[in-house]
Amino acid sequence: MKKQCTLIISHSCNLNCIYCYEKFKSNKLMSFDTAKKIITHEIESLDNTRYNGLEFNFIGGEPLTNFSLIKSVCEWAIKFEKIHFNIITNGTMFNDENMEWFEHYKKFIRVDVSVDGINSIQQTNRGCCVSDIPIDWISKNWSNNRYKMTISKKSLSDYANSLIHLEDNGFKTMPSLAVGENWNEFDAKIYSQQLSKITNHFLSKPINQIPSFLLQSIDSLFEKQDYIYKSCQTGDSSITYDIDGAIYPCILFSPLVINKTNDNWKNINFNDLSQFEDKECSNCFIKNMCKTCYGYNYLRTGTICTKDKRMCAMYKTEIYHIANFQKQLIENTIDKFNPSEIEIKRLNRVNIILNELNNSYE
Ligand code: SF4
Ligand code: SF4
Repeated sequence: MKKQCTLIISHSCNLNCIYCYEKFKSNKLMSFDTAKKIITHEIESLDNTRYNGLEFNFIGGEPLTNFSLIKSVCEWAIKFEKIHFNIITNGTMFNDENMEWFEHYKKFIRVDVSVDGINSIQQTNRGCCVSDIPIDWISKNWSNNRYKMTISKKSLSDYANSLIHLEDNGFKTMPSLAVGENWNEFDAKIYSQQLSKITNHFLSKPINQIPSFLLQSIDSLFEKQDYIYKSCQTGDSSITYDIDGAIYPCILFSPLVINKTNDNWKNINFNDLSQFEDKECSNCFIKNMCKTCYGYNYLRTGTICTKDKRMCAMYKTEIYHIANFQKQLIENTIDKFNPSEIEIKRLNRVNIILNELNNSYE
């Protein structure tokens, strides 16, 4: 496993997306000196018994507002072994000059881009056009790229059209619900309709053309129920540096997102799993797949463990449709007279999920 280090290299962004949780943007940028100190420190202190390398992720704001830093850092750091860079960008600030540079260094730095769907959705959520992003160029150079698609309340009713459009044009997606939205049961019904449309569309497609979220493992739901599941690496094997070199568990705890005076999180022991346990969720069937955002929990309630229950119906609807899709996939391919043990086990598991969730949002 590679250690993940995130560098917030810019507090500035050229967009103003409707779901953006970065409320304290400014023109501040990370300097080359600060970046060099962070990277040198990480290389020198890497625990080689735990990690087999380092991955540095450049984020913002919009990291391309500090392209000169990306360029200087990568050209300086290429001499080190076992390190790699990623940039997580909204994709709208590419130009001839930086595209030429990225192509030259593409083995050393990967470009991860977010795009929310068809043009009307991109405009609703982000105020820009899909044509502002060179997605053909990105897919050509980083063929494993998955486009991060954020679903807002406003874009929910066009979610299926957006995802199908991107996937059918060869662009792999990574959809996720916007955190902080006031999701409710009515939204869950719409989400269910959208997911039905998506699953019907992809059921007859070859496996390599099916969006990866529909094929994700559901096995964690069958782990021991007293196990405390953590939905992300915040404060654990990942670390985030702000523009001045200060360290945060993830961007959600940084001054880009929360007021500097709100620093009670410094008293939380992020290595203690019990800090992430919400007692109200102890009987929830999907708790081992719940994608709660601990940073957002903290922002909202002052604790990392108090999960945002407005997400529950949305998460349950999603898992119901994933299980239903996987059940149909298995039934389409299983040898009914001589099923394998694995197929029987998988079928039992998806049936248990469907019975437990008994989707009321269809
Ligand atoms: S591109 Fe990212 S940082 Fe910029 S406004 Fe949108 S969500 Fe926020
Ligand atoms: S879905 Fe809701 S009840 Fe279940 S674990 Fe997540 S926040 Fe808790």
